[in-house]
Amino acid sequence: MASRVYDCLSKIGEKIIENKDFLTDLDREIGDADHGVNMARGFEGVMTKLTPDTEDIGAALKTTGMTLLSTVGGASGPLYGTAFMDSGKAMMGKTALDKDDMKAIFEAAIAGIQKRGKAERGEKTMLDALMPAYESYCAGIDAGKSLTEAMDDACRAANDGIEFTKTIRATKGRASYLGDRSIGHQDPGATSITMMLEVVSEFLKS
Ligand code: ADP
Ligand code: MG
Repeated sequence: MASRVYDCLSKIGEKIIENKDFLTDLDREIGDADHGVNMARGFEGVMTKLTPDTEDIGAALKTTGMTLLSTVGGASGPLYGTAFMDSGKAMMGKTALDKDDMKAIFEAAIAGIQKRGKAERGEKTMLDALMPAYESYCAGIDAGKSLTEAMDDACRAANDGIEFTKTIRATKGRASYLGDRSIGHQDPGATSITMMLEVVSEFLKS
């Protein structure tokens, strides 16, 4: 039987591959029409590299990150690659995930993306979904909510973050070349990260 972490990463891959055209269309508006194609190629690679019986969450995340780094390309390849690899480091040797682990994954992913991409919040990137998601998650946990309730809050905040990206101008990545013309469009990376969070959130309920 495949491990939980394998099943969860497979579901993330399925979601991204299902939404390949949608993500690419978003990137056509403010980028170079490759985000979905890039990410789908990356997760197709991930599915060939992961071993179904790997129970070690850290090892599986690390393999995912290394594969994304070498197959996705563009800006998002190194960013997602680092996010998954650094999350993997935080989870190395663990075979179950609790509230603190989820917090550590958020923190490692955000730090990794910022280390690589040097973006702050409000620049119309994946961070505009991920950072508010993390804050809502922490607020939920601090208020005594369960892991899955806090992840629901995180997903709501990430979706609000996507909406927020429509209202602002891009100042990082290719979309920044458009200046004010980037306003009105939702950020592809904020959209893909939100999809991943939603898959994890649903998966943790199963
Ligand atoms: P490229 O822009 O090289 O074609 P993709 O289309 O795959 O790469 O990914 C674009 C996404 O990458 C954007 O929607 C944005 O969310 C994210 N992105 C770009 N630059 C940065 C950055 N410096 N920091 C964080 N995210 C970024
Ligand atoms: Mg692109």
